[in-house]
Amino acid sequence: MTVLSLRYGCSTDVGRLRSQNQDRLLARDGLFLVADGMGGQPAGEVASALAIAELASLAEPARELDVTDLIEAVQQANARLLDEGQRDPERYGLGTTLTGVIRLADGQWAILNVGDSRVYRFAGDRLEQLTTDHSAVQQLVDAGLLDPRAALHHPRRNVVTRSLGIQPPPVPDIELRRPEPGEQFLICSDGLTNELSDAEIAAVLAARVDPQEAAEELVAQAVAAGGRDNVSVIVVRLDLADTN
Ligand code: MN
Repeated sequence: MTVLSLRYGCSTDVGRLRSQNQDRLLARDGLFLVADGMGGQPAGEVASALAIAELASLAEPARELDVTDLIEAVQQANARLLDEGQRDPERYGLGTTLTGVIRLADGQWAILNVGDSRVYRFAGDRLEQLTTDHSAVQQLVDAGLLDPRAALHHPRRNVVTRSLGIQPPPVPDIELRRPEPGEQFLICSDGLTNELSDAEIAAVLAARVDPQEAAEELVAQAVAAGGRDNVSVIVVRLDLADTN
């Protein structure tokens, strides 16, 4: 019988300018998430850590996940952040992005997104962004008011229009996919995509077969290219494996 084997790697770095790494990631079999915390220090770090801790409950071994579980987990994480902001005035307004890929009980993969971290698919030497940013510049691009290339340098490119930690609770984008052999998923914070072009990212994913090496190489290149933000990367590879 032939099944899909799953290999993955991850890496994160504070970068060259920030004093704290406010990104958090979670990479476990079937559950791959990146959160990029926002707000005054140390609130951003708290926000991303709380969100990831809440979503980690999805990894309980016996759990059979469906889309409803994901939506509930996102809303619980959102409530945790709101509570934290009420409890500690210094953390008021804390927030985080949350993006990732989660395997469901029916074998489909859910691509989940709130904010401007991203999921890409890489297959056949083609890099394709699967998530749509919840950001001010994306709204301008969608409205035809801004060229996508100009969005990379727009002064408001850091303004996120949907995040965790807000009222009313955010609705995550969720897209379902059947996994295909030979494809890779890249889950990353904007510290990667603001430093490296699609072509540079694709070149690393094509050259590095080992997902841990690919993740480390992507982070190293983003830091070398400027490292102006925290940078976090998860690489997931799906391959055919023979079992007997
Ligand atoms: Mn960031």
